[in-house]
Amino acid sequence: MSPALAGLFPGELENLVTGWGQPAYRGRQIFEWIHRRGVLDPRQMTNLPTDLRQRLALARGEGEEVRRLTSSDGLTTKLLLRLHDGEEIEAVAMQSSSGRNTICVSSQAGCAMGCVFCVTGQFGFARNLDAGEIVEQVLRFSSGARPVTNVVFMGMGEPLANYDETLRAMRLLTHPFGLHLGARRITVSTSGVVPAMRRLAEERLQVGLAISLHAPDDALRSELMPINRRWPIREVLAAADYYVECTGRRVSYEYTLMSGVNDTDALADDLARLLHGRLCHVNLIPLNPTEDINLVAPSAHRAVAFERRLRDAGIAATMRVNRGRDILAACGQLRLAEKRSRPIAVAAG
Ligand code: SAH
Ligand code: SF4
Repeated sequence: MSPALAGLFPGELENLVTGWGQPAYRGRQIFEWIHRRGVLDPRQMTNLPTDLRQRLALARGEGEEVRRLTSSDGLTTKLLLRLHDGEEIEAVAMQSSSGRNTICVSSQAGCAMGCVFCVTGQFGFARNLDAGEIVEQVLRFSSGARPVTNVVFMGMGEPLANYDETLRAMRLLTHPFGLHLGARRITVSTSGVVPAMRRLAEERLQVGLAISLHAPDDALRSELMPINRRWPIREVLAAADYYVECTGRRVSYEYTLMSGVNDTDALADDLARLLHGRLCHVNLIPLNPTEDINLVAPSAHRAVAFERRLRDAGIAATMRVNRGRDILAACGQLRLAEKRSRPIAVAAG
Protein backbone atom coordinates (compact mmCIF):
# COMPACT_ATOMS: atom_id res chain seq x y z
CA MET A 1 0.00 0.00 0.00
CA SER A 2 1.42 3.40 -0.96
CA PRO A 3 2.00 5.88 1.84
CA ALA A 4 -0.61 8.57 2.43
CA LEU A 5 0.12 11.90 0.75
CA ALA A 6 0.06 13.57 4.17
CA GLY A 7 3.20 11.61 5.11
CA LEU A 8 5.36 12.98 2.29
CA PHE A 9 7.75 15.96 2.36
CA PRO A 10 7.65 18.60 -0.41
CA GLY A 11 10.68 17.05 -2.16
CA GLU A 12 9.04 13.62 -2.16
CA LEU A 13 5.83 15.05 -3.56
CA GLU A 14 7.92 16.77 -6.25
CA ASN A 15 9.49 13.45 -7.19
CA LEU A 16 6.09 11.87 -7.34
CA VAL A 17 4.56 14.47 -9.65
CA THR A 18 7.61 14.97 -11.89
CA GLY A 19 7.52 11.21 -12.43
CA TRP A 20 4.07 11.79 -13.91
CA GLY A 21 5.36 14.56 -16.17
CA GLN A 22 4.11 17.41 -13.98
CA PRO A 23 6.22 20.48 -13.07
CA ALA A 24 8.08 20.24 -9.75
CA TYR A 25 6.33 23.21 -8.12
CA ARG A 26 3.14 21.18 -7.96
CA GLY A 27 4.81 19.19 -5.18
CA ARG A 28 5.00 22.21 -2.94
CA GLN A 29 1.45 23.20 -3.83
CA ILE A 30 0.17 19.80 -2.73
CA PHE A 31 2.18 20.00 0.49
CA GLU A 32 0.69 23.41 1.25
CA TRP A 33 -2.85 22.24 0.57
CA ILE A 34 -2.42 19.41 3.03
CA HIS A 35 -0.29 20.91 5.76
CA ARG A 36 -1.17 24.56 5.65
CA ARG A 37 -4.83 24.44 4.70
CA GLY A 38 -5.68 21.02 6.12
CA VAL A 39 -7.18 19.81 2.82
CA LEU A 40 -6.62 16.06 2.68
CA ASP A 41 -8.80 15.22 -0.32
CA PRO A 42 -6.93 15.89 -3.61
CA ARG A 43 -10.21 16.52 -5.41
CA GLN A 44 -10.53 19.73 -3.41
CA MET A 45 -7.09 21.07 -4.39
CA THR A 46 -8.60 23.51 -6.81
CA ASN A 47 -5.45 25.09 -8.26
CA LEU A 48 -4.20 21.73 -9.57
CA PRO A 49 -5.11 20.47 -13.04
CA THR A 50 -7.95 17.95 -13.06
CA ASP A 51 -5.84 15.05 -14.35
CA LEU A 52 -3.33 15.53 -11.51
CA ARG A 53 -6.11 15.65 -8.94
CA GLN A 54 -7.56 12.45 -10.29
CA ARG A 55 -4.19 10.74 -10.18
CA LEU A 56 -3.55 11.90 -6.61
CA ALA A 57 -6.95 10.63 -5.58
CA LEU A 58 -5.74 7.13 -6.42
CA ALA A 59 -3.10 7.33 -3.66
CA ARG A 60 -4.06 5.90 -0.32
CA GLY A 61 -6.93 7.97 1.01
CA GLU A 62 -7.29 9.61 4.37
CA GLY A 63 -9.10 8.04 7.30
CA GLU A 64 -12.81 8.25 7.87
CA GLU A 65 -14.35 10.08 10.81
CA VAL A 66 -16.46 7.63 12.79
CA ARG A 67 -17.36 10.04 15.60
CA ARG A 68 -16.61 13.58 16.67
CA LEU A 69 -17.73 14.43 20.20
CA THR A 70 -17.43 17.73 22.02
CA SER A 71 -17.55 17.98 25.82
CA SER A 72 -20.35 19.92 27.49
CA ASP A 73 -18.05 22.89 28.17
CA GLY A 74 -17.13 23.00 24.49
CA LEU A 75 -13.40 22.92 25.18
CA THR A 76 -12.53 19.30 24.44
CA THR A 77 -13.27 17.50 21.19
CA LYS A 78 -12.55 13.87 20.59
CA LEU A 79 -12.28 12.24 17.21
CA LEU A 80 -12.51 8.56 16.38
CA LEU A 81 -10.87 7.82 13.02
CA ARG A 82 -11.13 4.63 11.00
CA LEU A 83 -7.98 4.01 8.99
CA HIS A 84 -7.74 2.44 5.53
CA ASP A 85 -7.43 -1.09 6.96
CA GLY A 86 -10.26 -0.70 9.46
CA GLU A 87 -8.10 0.04 12.52
CA GLU A 88 -9.56 2.73 14.74
CA ILE A 89 -7.63 5.41 16.58
CA GLU A 90 -8.42 8.43 18.69
CA ALA A 91 -7.26 12.03 18.71
CA VAL A 92 -8.31 14.79 21.10
CA ALA A 93 -8.24 18.58 20.84
CA MET A 94 -8.13 20.60 24.06
CA GLN A 95 -8.65 24.34 24.02
CA SER A 96 -7.72 26.69 26.80
CA SER A 97 -8.92 30.18 27.57
CA SER A 98 -5.42 31.47 26.87
CA GLY A 99 -5.87 30.50 23.21
CA ARG A 100 -3.96 27.25 23.28
CA ASN A 101 -5.27 24.51 21.04
CA THR A 102 -3.46 21.32 21.96
CA ILE A 103 -3.92 18.18 19.90
CA CYS A 104 -3.28 14.83 21.52
CA VAL A 105 -2.38 12.24 18.88
CA SER A 106 -2.10 8.47 18.75
CA SER A 107 1.11 6.93 17.46
CA GLN A 108 -0.01 3.29 17.21
CA ALA A 109 -3.25 1.36 16.83
CA GLY A 110 -3.24 -0.29 20.25
CA CYS A 111 -0.12 -0.67 22.36
CA ALA A 112 2.11 -3.59 23.27
CA MET A 113 3.20 -2.26 26.67
CA GLY A 114 0.29 -3.60 28.70
CA CYS A 115 0.22 -1.01 31.50
CA VAL A 116 -2.46 -2.20 33.92
CA PHE A 117 -4.24 1.16 34.29
CA CYS A 118 -4.52 1.89 30.56
CA VAL A 119 -7.44 0.83 28.37
CA THR A 120 -5.28 0.85 25.23
CA GLY A 121 -2.68 -1.31 26.96
CA GLN A 122 -5.28 -3.86 27.98
CA PHE A 123 -6.35 -4.48 24.42
CA GLY A 124 -2.98 -5.20 22.88
CA PHE A 125 -1.13 -4.02 19.82
CA ALA A 126 -2.40 -3.89 16.25
CA ARG A 127 0.18 -1.88 14.28
CA ASN A 128 2.29 1.24 14.03
CA LEU A 129 0.78 4.33 12.44
CA ASP A 130 2.72 5.96 9.64
CA ALA A 131 3.64 9.65 9.71
CA GLY A 132 0.74 10.55 7.41
CA GLU A 133 -1.73 8.95 9.80
CA ILE A 134 -0.22 10.80 12.75
CA VAL A 135 -0.18 14.18 11.03
CA GLU A 136 -3.70 13.68 9.70
CA GLN A 137 -5.01 13.66 13.27
CA VAL A 138 -3.56 17.15 13.79
CA LEU A 139 -4.75 18.46 10.43
CA ARG A 140 -8.31 17.41 11.13
CA PHE A 141 -8.37 19.85 14.02
CA SER A 142 -6.55 22.66 12.28
CA SER A 143 -8.64 25.54 11.04
CA GLY A 144 -8.08 29.22 10.36
CA ALA A 145 -10.39 30.09 13.26
CA ARG A 146 -8.60 27.81 15.71
CA PRO A 147 -5.00 27.21 14.68
CA VAL A 148 -3.18 24.35 16.32
CA THR A 149 -0.68 25.63 18.88
CA ASN A 150 0.64 22.43 20.51
CA VAL A 151 0.84 18.72 19.77
CA VAL A 152 1.31 16.01 22.40
CA PHE A 153 1.98 12.34 21.66
CA MET A 154 -0.20 11.13 24.51
CA GLY A 155 -2.97 9.27 22.72
CA MET A 156 -2.98 5.57 21.97
CA GLY A 157 0.34 3.78 21.65
CA GLU A 158 3.99 4.18 22.57
CA PRO A 159 5.54 6.79 20.24
CA LEU A 160 9.11 5.72 20.94
CA ALA A 161 8.29 2.16 19.92
CA ASN A 162 7.38 3.70 16.54
CA TYR A 163 10.44 5.90 16.39
CA ASP A 164 10.94 6.58 12.68
CA GLU A 165 7.36 7.53 11.90
CA THR A 166 7.06 9.61 15.07
CA LEU A 167 10.17 11.56 14.14
CA ARG A 168 8.98 11.97 10.59
CA ALA A 169 5.62 13.26 11.82
CA MET A 170 7.39 15.80 14.01
CA ARG A 171 9.48 16.98 11.07
CA LEU A 172 6.35 17.36 8.96
CA LEU A 173 4.59 19.34 11.69
CA THR A 174 7.54 21.70 12.05
CA HIS A 175 8.14 22.10 8.29
CA PRO A 176 8.18 25.79 7.24
CA PHE A 177 5.92 25.17 4.23
CA GLY A 178 3.29 23.53 6.42
CA LEU A 179 1.94 24.11 9.93
CA HIS A 180 5.41 25.26 10.96
CA LEU A 181 4.93 24.42 14.62
CA GLY A 182 7.86 25.19 16.87
CA ALA A 183 9.56 22.01 18.11
CA ARG A 184 9.08 23.33 21.63
CA ARG A 185 5.36 23.06 21.11
CA ILE A 186 5.55 19.31 20.61
CA THR A 187 5.76 16.85 23.50
CA VAL A 188 6.47 13.15 23.24
CA SER A 189 5.33 10.97 26.12
CA THR A 190 7.05 7.65 26.72
CA SER A 191 6.68 4.74 29.08
CA GLY A 192 10.50 4.57 29.12
CA VAL A 193 11.90 3.00 25.95
CA VAL A 194 15.44 3.80 27.01
CA PRO A 195 17.43 3.34 23.76
CA ALA A 196 14.90 5.45 21.85
CA MET A 197 14.99 8.17 24.53
CA ARG A 198 18.75 8.37 24.04
CA ARG A 199 18.41 8.42 20.29
CA LEU A 200 15.86 11.22 20.49
CA ALA A 201 18.22 13.19 22.75
CA GLU A 202 20.88 12.94 20.06
CA GLU A 203 18.58 14.37 17.39
CA ARG A 204 18.99 17.58 19.39
CA LEU A 205 15.49 18.77 18.62
CA GLN A 206 13.81 21.10 21.05
CA VAL A 207 10.92 18.70 21.46
CA GLY A 208 9.60 18.22 25.00
CA LEU A 209 9.92 14.81 26.64
CA ALA A 210 7.43 13.47 29.17
CA ILE A 211 8.22 10.25 30.99
CA SER A 212 5.48 8.10 32.47
CA LEU A 213 6.86 7.12 35.85
CA HIS A 214 3.81 6.32 38.04
CA ALA A 215 5.89 4.77 40.83
CA PRO A 216 9.15 5.62 42.60
CA ASP A 217 10.38 2.03 43.06
CA ASP A 218 10.96 -0.85 40.69
CA ALA A 219 8.74 -3.37 42.47
CA LEU A 220 5.64 -1.20 42.18
CA ARG A 221 6.50 0.19 38.75
CA SER A 222 6.99 -3.30 37.34
CA GLU A 223 3.56 -4.26 38.63
CA LEU A 224 1.95 -1.28 36.92
CA MET A 225 4.12 -1.14 33.81
CA PRO A 226 5.65 -4.37 32.50
CA ILE A 227 8.22 -2.37 30.49
CA ASN A 228 9.95 -1.60 33.79
CA ARG A 229 11.25 -5.18 33.87
CA ARG A 230 13.16 -4.44 30.69
CA TRP A 231 14.31 -0.90 31.58
CA PRO A 232 14.13 -0.21 35.31
CA ILE A 233 13.82 3.23 36.89
CA ARG A 234 17.57 3.79 37.20
CA GLU A 235 18.04 3.42 33.44
CA VAL A 236 14.98 5.52 32.61
CA LEU A 237 16.22 8.37 34.81
CA ALA A 238 19.71 8.16 33.33
CA ALA A 239 18.24 8.43 29.82
CA ALA A 240 16.07 11.37 30.94
CA ASP A 241 19.14 13.10 32.41
CA TYR A 242 20.91 12.55 29.11
CA TYR A 243 17.97 14.17 27.33
CA VAL A 244 18.27 17.23 29.56
CA GLU A 245 22.02 17.33 28.95
CA CYS A 246 21.67 17.15 25.14
CA THR A 247 18.72 19.50 24.71
CA GLY A 248 18.88 21.81 27.72
CA ARG A 249 15.18 21.22 28.16
CA ARG A 250 13.48 20.32 31.39
CA VAL A 251 11.68 16.97 31.19
CA SER A 252 8.41 16.15 32.86
CA TYR A 253 7.44 13.03 34.74
CA GLU A 254 3.87 11.86 34.57
CA TYR A 255 2.44 10.22 37.64
CA THR A 256 -1.08 8.84 37.39
CA LEU A 257 -2.54 8.73 40.89
CA MET A 258 -4.37 5.50 41.77
CA SER A 259 -6.12 5.18 45.09
CA GLY A 260 -4.35 2.88 47.54
CA VAL A 261 -1.74 1.95 44.93
CA ASN A 262 0.72 4.82 44.49
CA ASP A 263 -0.81 7.79 46.30
CA THR A 264 0.54 7.55 49.87
CA ASP A 265 2.65 10.17 51.63
CA ALA A 266 5.48 7.66 51.92
CA LEU A 267 5.56 7.21 48.14
CA ALA A 268 5.44 11.00 47.63
CA ASP A 269 8.54 11.20 49.82
CA ASP A 270 10.25 8.42 47.84
CA LEU A 271 9.41 10.19 44.61
CA ALA A 272 10.78 13.49 45.90
CA ARG A 273 14.03 11.77 46.92
CA LEU A 274 14.31 10.08 43.54
CA LEU A 275 13.89 13.31 41.59
CA HIS A 276 15.77 15.58 43.97
CA GLY A 277 18.25 17.83 42.16
CA ARG A 278 16.96 16.98 38.69
CA LEU A 279 15.78 19.54 36.13
CA CYS A 280 12.20 18.29 35.94
CA HIS A 281 8.57 18.81 36.64
CA VAL A 282 5.99 16.30 37.90
CA ASN A 283 2.60 16.13 36.27
CA LEU A 284 0.09 14.44 38.54
CA ILE A 285 -2.91 12.90 36.76
CA PRO A 286 -5.81 11.49 38.78
CA LEU A 287 -6.65 8.13 37.18
CA ASN A 288 -9.36 8.28 34.57
CA PRO A 289 -11.38 5.28 35.70
CA THR A 290 -13.16 2.83 33.42
CA GLU A 291 -15.23 -0.21 34.14
CA ASP A 292 -12.55 -2.41 32.55
CA ILE A 293 -9.91 -1.47 35.04
CA ASN A 294 -10.15 -2.34 38.66
CA LEU A 295 -8.55 0.86 39.90
CA VAL A 296 -9.91 4.19 41.09
CA ALA A 297 -8.67 7.75 41.42
CA PRO A 298 -7.84 9.04 44.90
CA SER A 299 -10.09 11.59 46.59
CA ALA A 300 -9.34 15.22 45.70
CA HIS A 301 -8.10 15.65 49.25
CA ARG A 302 -5.56 12.81 48.91
CA ALA A 303 -4.40 14.01 45.50
CA VAL A 304 -3.80 17.54 46.76
CA ALA A 305 -1.96 16.22 49.81
CA PHE A 306 0.35 14.19 47.54
CA GLU A 307 1.04 17.25 45.41
CA ARG A 308 1.73 19.40 48.47
CA ARG A 309 4.14 16.84 49.86
CA LEU A 310 6.16 16.91 46.65
CA ARG A 311 6.19 20.69 46.56
CA ASP A 312 7.22 20.94 50.18
CA ALA A 313 10.18 18.73 49.29
CA GLY A 314 11.16 21.20 46.56
CA ILE A 315 9.80 19.31 43.54
CA ALA A 316 7.87 21.32 40.92
CA ALA A 317 4.52 19.56 40.64
CA THR A 318 1.13 20.34 39.14
CA MET A 319 -2.12 18.46 38.94
CA ARG A 320 -3.61 17.87 35.52
CA VAL A 321 -7.33 18.45 35.50
CA ASN A 322 -9.20 15.60 33.91
CA ARG A 323 -11.11 17.11 31.08
CA GLY A 324 -13.75 15.76 28.81
CA ARG A 325 -14.88 12.95 31.07
CA ASP A 326 -18.32 13.14 29.51
CA ILE A 327 -16.82 12.23 26.13
CA LEU A 328 -14.61 9.37 27.35
CA ALA A 329 -11.49 11.42 26.81
CA ALA A 330 -9.00 9.02 28.39
CA CYS A 331 -6.92 7.21 25.90
CA GLY A 332 -8.71 4.24 24.31
CA GLN A 333 -12.05 4.77 26.02
CA LEU A 334 -14.04 6.07 23.09
CA ARG A 335 -12.85 3.37 20.73
CA LEU A 336 -13.87 0.74 23.24
CA ALA A 337 -17.30 2.25 23.84
CA GLU A 338 -17.91 2.43 20.10
CA LYS A 339 -16.93 -1.18 19.56
CA ARG A 340 -19.33 -2.26 22.28
CA SER A 341 -22.26 -0.32 20.91
CA ARG A 342 -21.98 -1.81 17.43
CA PRO A 343 -23.75 -5.05 16.64
CA ILE A 344 -21.33 -7.96 16.40
CA ALA A 345 -20.93 -9.19 12.86
CA VAL A 346 -21.76 -12.87 12.54
CA ALA A 347 -19.57 -14.74 10.10
CA ALA A 348 -21.51 -16.48 7.38
CA GLY A 349 -21.01 -20.23 7.00
N1 SAH B 1 2.54 5.38 25.71
C1 SAH B 1 2.94 6.66 26.14
C2 SAH B 1 2.05 7.80 25.67
C3 SAH B 1 0.57 7.56 25.67
S1 SAH B 1 -0.21 7.41 27.24
C4 SAH B 1 3.09 6.70 27.65
O1 SAH B 1 2.67 5.76 28.30
O2 SAH B 1 3.67 7.66 28.15
C5 SAH B 1 -0.23 9.08 27.82
C6 SAH B 1 -0.35 9.20 29.32
O3 SAH B 1 -1.63 8.79 29.77
C7 SAH B 1 0.66 8.34 30.06
O4 SAH B 1 1.32 9.05 31.06
C8 SAH B 1 -0.21 7.25 30.63
O5 SAH B 1 0.38 6.67 31.73
C9 SAH B 1 -1.48 8.00 30.93
N2 SAH B 1 -2.65 7.13 31.14
C10 SAH B 1 -2.96 5.98 30.54
N3 SAH B 1 -4.13 5.49 31.01
C11 SAH B 1 -4.58 6.37 31.93
C12 SAH B 1 -5.73 6.43 32.76
N4 SAH B 1 -6.67 5.48 32.75
N5 SAH B 1 -5.85 7.50 33.57
C13 SAH B 1 -4.92 8.47 33.60
N6 SAH B 1 -3.81 8.46 32.85
C14 SAH B 1 -3.63 7.42 32.02
FE1 SF4 C 1 0.92 1.91 26.11
FE2 SF4 C 1 1.23 4.31 27.29
FE3 SF4 C 1 -1.03 2.84 27.65
FE4 SF4 C 1 1.27 2.04 28.75
S1 SF4 C 1 0.13 3.93 29.22
S2 SF4 C 1 -0.17 0.73 27.65
S3 SF4 C 1 2.74 2.62 27.19
S4 SF4 C 1 -0.33 3.73 25.76
